[in-house]
Amino acid sequence: MATVENVVIIGSGPAGHTAAIYAARAVLNPVMYEGFMAGGVAAGGQLTTTTEVENFPGFPSGIEGPALMQLMREQSIKSGARIVTETVESVDLSEAPYEVRLASGNIRTKTIIIATGATAKRLDVTGTDRLWQRGISACAVCDGALPVFRDKPLFVVGGGDTAAEEATYLSRFGSSVTMLVRRDVMQASKAMQQRVADNQKVIVRWSSTLEEVRGDPLLSEVVVRDVASGDTETLPAGGLFFAIGHQPNTEFLDGQLEMDDTGYLRTSGASTATSKPGVFACGDVQDKVYRQAVTAAGTGCMAALEAERFLS
Ligand code: FAD
Ligand code: NDP
Repeated sequence: MATVENVVIIGSGPAGHTAAIYAARAVLNPVMYEGFMAGGVAAGGQLTTTTEVENFPGFPSGIEGPALMQLMREQSIKSGARIVTETVESVDLSEAPYEVRLASGNIRTKTIIIATGATAKRLDVTGTDRLWQRGISACAVCDGALPVFRDKPLFVVGGGDTAAEEATYLSRFGSSVTMLVRRDVMQASKAMQQRVADNQKVIVRWSSTLEEVRGDPLLSEVVVRDVASGDTETLPAGGLFFAIGHQPNTEFLDGQLEMDDTGYLRTSGASTATSKPGVFACGDVQDKVYRQAVTAAGTGCMAALEAERFLS
């Protein structure tokens, strides 16, 4: 009979790696499927798309996101977790042991820890499909340093921490960076807002939405609407970056677990238990409130401890 795994961890951000470290140290011999550009994000998760992480405990001088994730991966392996670079295609949760479906062959497992995180959303206005990756991106840190954006007027859509951080980062490269914020307030933390205000190259356009993008073959103009007056203005643009939030990576579950109306997994009370026994969810895939590396790691720890308790 084929082996039945104790714990399969799906996803490789801070939640997945913390779960892997705890499950491995509990001698559960966990296997992690870290994904291969799953949801367009590299193994290691969202922090691989950022520069300095200044709020993860233990790094008083800050640490680059990719370096932090590499350290977590090393710690998972050192603790005894097995890591497979493959994306889980689907799961069958109709009966235990559960089936995890992969291109390399299906496996069975007594428990699953879902740590698949979330993916950046894109804005769908006229021209964005045609000019996607031709001056338009959803990851300033990945693409901002490209020569095509040097000394050009750049735009960031959004008013959250990601938008503030990306605008600050892009100011190193562009001639100016304009943030298009759809309301007259920003969702970003006070510290990030201050950073934007202190940066002379960053301009905030309040109550402004993106109407259209133009250019051939590359982006050259954006049309911006003032929400209050309804007026539109066409502005020269060398780059446009979406920073408008994220979509939880739950499609591969095909509705087999309870989710809220935006696709985030529902967990029960202060636990990481989902609607199926032995299936736990941690990190951004179940958290639309805090969405931080340290909270993802915290819930990854909880998921592993709960899986251990379930198995015993
Ligand atoms: P993620 O980091 O989203 O990782 C999930 C992983 O699972 C991804 O690699 C994905 O490819 C993989 N995956 C998805 N589907 C599958 C599948 N079917 N099979 C296998 N693998 C799959 N937080 C902070 O605390 N401090 C910061 O400074 C900070 N900066 C940020 C900067 C940016 C630009 C962004 C976007 C976020 C930032 N955050 C920051 C938030 C932080 O990155 C997230 O809260 C955290 O990464 C969530 O971790 P996670 O483990 O839930 O999932
Ligand atoms: P958020 O959900 O926090 O913010 C999304 C922003 O995009 C909001 O300003 C929202 O506007 C705007 N928006 C959404 N949809 C549209 C649209 N269709 N058109 C125009 N604007 C739109 O997402 P973030 O990615 O910024 O942050 C996610 C999490 O990651 C947060 O918890 C954040 O704290 C964390 N993070 C932390 C960092 C740090 O600590 N250094 C850095 C980056 C992220 P509105 O407010 O009107 O809804």
